[in-house]
Amino acid sequence: MNAPHEAQTIAPDGAHATAEGRRSALLAGLAQILPDAALLWKPEDTVPYECDGLAAYRQVPMAVALPDTEEQVCAILRLCHKLGVPVVPRGAGTSLSGGAMPIAEGLVLSLAKFKRILSVDPYSRTAVVQPGVRNLAISDAAAPHNLYYAPDPSSQIACTIGGNVSENSGGVHCLKYGLTVHNVLRVRAVTMEGEVVVFGSEAPDSPGLDLLAVLIGSEGMLAVVTEVTVRLIPKPQLAQVIMACFDDVEKGGNAVADVIAAGIIPAGLEMMDKPATAAVEQFVHAGYDLDAAAILLCESDGTPEEVAEEIERMSAVLTASGCTRIVVSQNEAERLRFWSGRKNAFPAAGRISPDYYCMDGTIPRKHIGTLLRRIEAMEQKYGLRCINVFHAGDGNMHPLVLFDGADQDQWHRAELFGADILETCVELGGTVTGEHGVGVEKLNSMCVQFSPAERDAFFGVKAAFDPARLLNPDKAIPTLARCAEYGKMHVKRGLLPHPELPRF
Ligand SMILES: Cc1cc2nc3c(=O)[nH]c(=O)nc-3n(C[C@H](O)[C@H](O)[C@H](O)COP(=O)(O)OP(=O)(O)OC[C@H]3O[C@@H](n4cnc5c(N)ncnc54)[C@H](O)[C@@H]3O)c2cc1C
Repeated sequence: MNAPHEAQTIAPDGAHATAEGRRSALLAGLAQILPDAALLWKPEDTVPYECDGLAAYRQVPMAVALPDTEEQVCAILRLCHKLGVPVVPRGAGTSLSGGAMPIAEGLVLSLAKFKRILSVDPYSRTAVVQPGVRNLAISDAAAPHNLYYAPDPSSQIACTIGGNVSENSGGVHCLKYGLTVHNVLRVRAVTMEGEVVVFGSEAPDSPGLDLLAVLIGSEGMLAVVTEVTVRLIPKPQLAQVIMACFDDVEKGGNAVADVIAAGIIPAGLEMMDKPATAAVEQFVHAGYDLDAAAILLCESDGTPEEVAEEIERMSAVLTASGCTRIVVSQNEAERLRFWSGRKNAFPAAGRISPDYYCMDGTIPRKHIGTLLRRIEAMEQKYGLRCINVFHAGDGNMHPLVLFDGADQDQWHRAELFGADILETCVELGGTVTGEHGVGVEKLNSMCVQFSPAERDAFFGVKAAFDPARLLNPDKAIPTLARCAEYGKMHVKRGLLPHPELPRF
């Protein structure tokens, strides 16, 4: 195996027909763009990049590039385009859908070194940041101005704004303040051909088609994000959270719809079932009611008068919906403790089970209770436990199917369980993903949700940005062949048509 500096020089297009030839040419080309320390190609250096937060799917990449300037990103993409090498952009690698999973004959383009906060402007209430800046670091930088960045994925201590843009990430405060797409004004990005494109603007609206909204949530398939301008909002004077306890999960689910129907938009409206609170309580001691079948966390923020009035209204609705106990946070420490439980629910699941498979379906709020009952029945059917924690106000469900990845049969049942949940979401009028993206994980479920014509339209958008299909290919949009295959093997109500055939 050649070291990059020993490798052959770059030959014209088409001269690298073999994988080894392409690899040598890629390493030689990258060595001309990047310093040694920013290019990883030995297996011991590339293995740490073999998966993202969805560790069940793994693939060691051909090489990993760690540029720290936009010029380097442009040069790398131009080189890969010339050589026909696929590129997978990567932030912090916390994606739960395999969006940042490498391709065997491809390059991982890490944006981890783009960590600078370029400006925080309290007058326009915006911040300009590089894509590798962590979500929480933006709020930390804005805090001296009494401002913060509202979308708050539970992974916010680790995940990057580039990843958030690419997944259109959400969090507990997105019900009231909107998702990433509602809080990003402008993005600078580089196409696969190495061209810098600016999407959106700092003005409230920009002329022409809204390509910024197309880019946000495009899972690294359209362009590589190199700079993001985000909206900042003032910190509320006061925030308080209600923990509402229910003796029945369905009643808790229905209460969510009742709160919204009463015309209240809480600053956060999250739900956890009893197995979830039990797992979390051992881990962070959040003070949850362990006797409750489900708890709702409902936050109110604003001036002290607004909060007092909203807490009273929410308490009345929750009581009428059958809630058995209400606890209102009495100080900031208690409020943060209630939220720390919710935000640590995924790691808590990791403590009680060797592996968990996180689903991300979204359904109309009025069906939350129905879906929870259906999931209970699926636990029996697949012989696996599932704990439920979710952005209830958005109807965005995160059932965590617990399994042991060392046991192939359990993993197989977990996959079937997950697919069953997502297809039930579609049946209830919902979608297969809310905020975690499709990645590689939900490709089959996309076949259930979208028609061939719709999927063709998605490929048309991809081709407009990346005609060579080299940027994060084979993610997010399933091919016709894949859907045809899945259709033949489609699990309906847990019955697999051709159980003798291997599934992919
Ligand atoms: C414990 C835990 C809790 C989580 N909670 C939430 C939650 O509450 N809400 C939520 O929405 N998500 C959540 N997630 C999922 C994940 O954190 C988000 O999807 C996050 O936005 C991913 O950011 P990242 O920097 O890790 O991106 P990565 O995982 O590295 O990449 C994600 C996708 O973005 C692309 N990408 C990354 N950077 C760029 C770039 N600069 N340009 C172009 N494409 C790029 C990648 O190719 C990939 O497709 C959670 C994950 C974990 C592990």
